Amino acid sequence: MTRPADHWYPAYVGLGSNLQGPARQLEGAFELLGGIPETRLISQSSLYRSAPFGGVEQPDFVNAAAALLTKLPAEGLLRELQRIEILRGRERGNLRWGPRVLDLDLLVYSNHRIETADLTIPHPGIGERNFVLLPLAELAPGLDIPGLGRLANIVVSETEPAISRIA
Ligand code: ATP
Ligand code: CA
Ligand code: CA
Repeated sequence: MTRPADHWYPAYVGLGSNLQGPARQLEGAFELLGGIPETRLISQSSLYRSAPFGGVEQPDFVNAAAALLTKLPAEGLLRELQRIEILRGRERGNLRWGPRVLDLDLLVYSNHRIETADLTIPHPGIGERNFVLLPLAELAPGLDIPGLGRLANIVVSETEPAISRIA
């Protein structure tokens, strides 16, 4: 399949932080998302506080989501997200689901399904994570997530982990 040149693809990013001023980290991350080449930040969700996930003892997270339009392929966009994580002081190689200054997950990329060693699209955690579903539903309640269906229908059935809107 050839990629049409100059096509803008909708993409959704999940943001999370639980270190070094999480709310401030996310505000800074939105700005950096807006600076990604060939990409526009279209909208940003409210910030949500959520209980940590995955059994590691650590501070609460602040989570949010961003809607982008991008000309980058999904792999290129992921590299940009990882560049921003590292720029903000994210240390690689530590615990999965452990504490971090910034986590940027590529949740959805257009209607694509991707399964490579480095990238799974849609992000496999979406359906079980309220801290992803609620901010995403603010941005695009009608979003049809490949393999999961309409976002609004998924949110209704989810209650864990505990989450509240903070800003
Ligand atoms: P989770 O992915 O369950 O939310 P995590 O965010 O803690 O866990 P990381 O340590 O940030 O996981 O990332 C591990 C690897 O996941 C990355 O090196 C990246 O290559 C891979 N990955 C696969 N699919 C995606 C995606 N859709 N968005 C971000 N990273 C992804
Ligand atoms: Ca994550
Ligand atoms: Ca991640």
